[in-house]
Amino acid sequence: MIVRRDVLRASKAMQERVKNNPKIEILWNHNTKEIVGVSEGFNKTVNGAILLNNKTNEETRIDIEGFFVAIGHHPNSDIFKGQIDTDDEGYIKTVPGSTKTNIPGVFAAGDVQDKTFRQAVTAAGSGCMAAIEAERFLAEQS
Ligand SMILES: Cc1cc2nc3c(=O)[nH]c(=O)nc-3n(C[C@H](O)[C@H](O)[C@H](O)COP(=O)(O)OP(=O)(O)OC[C@H]3O[C@@H](n4cnc5c(N)ncnc54)[C@H](O)[C@@H]3O)c2cc1C
Repeated sequence: MIVRRDVLRASKAMQERVKNNPKIEILWNHNTKEIVGVSEGFNKTVNGAILLNNKTNEETRIDIEGFFVAIGHHPNSDIFKGQIDTDDEGYIKTVPGSTKTNIPGVFAAGDVQDKTFRQAVTAAGSGCMAAIEAERFLAEQS
């Protein structure tokens, strides 16, 4: 596991699970510079990564067969850019206490409009709110 800093942000319990797993080696203070592999036609395989130790500036190559990325969070709202109001980070703006956007009849729910909680249960809850608001909106149209 490649970590850019010398600390983890996850909950203590999750950190302990990782640290106590003998199959996981943590490389602290490392940035990934490049993922290397083979790319010939349909044969696209990963076989290594070039890492930079951001404390010593030392570069190393590790042999790997896969690479899973989990860095930060970017709301998947680009498709709505210029149509629905978003904040500076790209989260869709909703009227507080509701799922209404700046466009009548368009409601936003889940992680794309929630930078605070981003949990399954809050996403599902706001999904329910959006469904009710959409139903009421449609009922008012007739
Ligand atoms: C590694 C990880 C661990 C997590 N662990 C937990 C946990 O333990 N407990 C918890 O409560 N939450 C957890 N979460 C958070 C939880 O997964 C999210 O809060 C939740 O999935 C958000 O639901 P959502 O419906 O808003 O978004 P998503 O689940 O991301 O669903 C969005 C959907 O929209 C689709 N989509 C995107 N763009 C388009 C498009 N242009 N056209 C059509 N479809 C599109 C996507 O394919 C996706 O299916 C975790 C998240 C991650 C990444």
